[in-house]
Amino acid sequence: MAQVQLDHVSMKYTGPDAGQKPALKDVALTLADGETLAIVGPSGCGKSTLLKIIAGLETPTSGRVLYNDYDVTTAEPQQRGVGMVFQDYALYPTMKGKGNLTYFFEVHQRTEAEMEQHVREVSELMGVGFDQLLGQMPTTLSGGEKQRVAIARCIVRRPPVFLMDEPICNLDAKLRERTRIEMRRMLQKYRVTTVYVTHDQQEAIFMGDRIAVMRTGVLEQIGTFDDLYYTPANRFVAEFIGTPPMVFLPVSKSGNILSLEGAGTWAIPSDLAAALPDRVMTMGMRAESWEIGEGLSAEVTSIERIPTQQAAFISTKLAGMRVHVVAPLDHPHVAQITLAPKWDAAYFFEATGEAVLLTPAIPEFF
Ligand code: ADP
Repeated sequence: MAQVQLDHVSMKYTGPDAGQKPALKDVALTLADGETLAIVGPSGCGKSTLLKIIAGLETPTSGRVLYNDYDVTTAEPQQRGVGMVFQDYALYPTMKGKGNLTYFFEVHQRTEAEMEQHVREVSELMGVGFDQLLGQMPTTLSGGEKQRVAIARCIVRRPPVFLMDEPICNLDAKLRERTRIEMRRMLQKYRVTTVYVTHDQQEAIFMGDRIAVMRTGVLEQIGTFDDLYYTPANRFVAEFIGTPPMVFLPVSKSGNILSLEGAGTWAIPSDLAAALPDRVMTMGMRAESWEIGEGLSAEVTSIERIPTQQAAFISTKLAGMRVHVVAPLDHPHVAQITLAPKWDAAYFFEATGEAVLLTPAIPEFF
């Protein structure tokens, strides 16, 4: 078990494939012992580089990596003892599933009883049908089954740090769901400090105790899903977190009147009027942050059901922009609706750049 710290880590690759910009810029973060951190961000933002630096597969250009305050920046991967599962992680092809799990213990000359106990524990946590995989050769396993064995093989060794890079992105939707439940259960049981890279926001929310959002080598924000969702550090995080993405509308405020360019005005509550400056701004709106039935008129372009919820999505045009609105399932099929923001759920940013002016508070759910 380990606390992992990245102390102002930067990475600039050299060679023909290296881009102009550094792969990582001054990344500083600390993972608590036993914490799972999910890393999300667009392709090429440095997620894999970050993992490789924690694993010891790459050495940063500057900065340090610490395990339990011990500097491992230049230590070899073998010395760090991390467990890694990647997308295409290969099993030992000549061993059955069980052999893959116990090989490590055999090499380290542990007793038969100890091996059996570890395998039984992990197998129970992996859930229904996993036992069966233990008796099979890798060539007879499907991609999903191989990956389940690979994950179990990694966790059975109780590594101090567990690194996973898109481990289940090749599995079909049903198996992905099942595997991530198994993984979460194992991580919670063993409390292995884990870094989990994914491009899938839902997976990040499910797996991560905290989520780190990266862009072009920069750690933009790290926090719980609610931190990122309700109090994004900037416009990029606001847009990246949440589905469908936040819509940005050009507005200007004067007193308690907020004008939406080309569409009309809303009166805003006095506490909001006091909190915002009198000038042009950008208002960020999520689909669930609209009140239907008063305010500015918007043309309805489509209404569709949201399959997983008792709700519908109304697509509209407001001030010439595409705006999604969550509505009750039985909302009538109309050509126009009137919209006003739920003012305690609206976000405000500077008109240019990405700086936040005001975000909603995190609601008290419990
Ligand atoms: P992600 O995992 O978020 O897709 P990566 O960490 O793989 O991002 O890559 C970050 C940046 O570093 C990219 O611009 C990529 O092209 C570059 N990069 C990654 N690995 C190498 C390498 N071995 N040599 C040169 N450039 C690399």
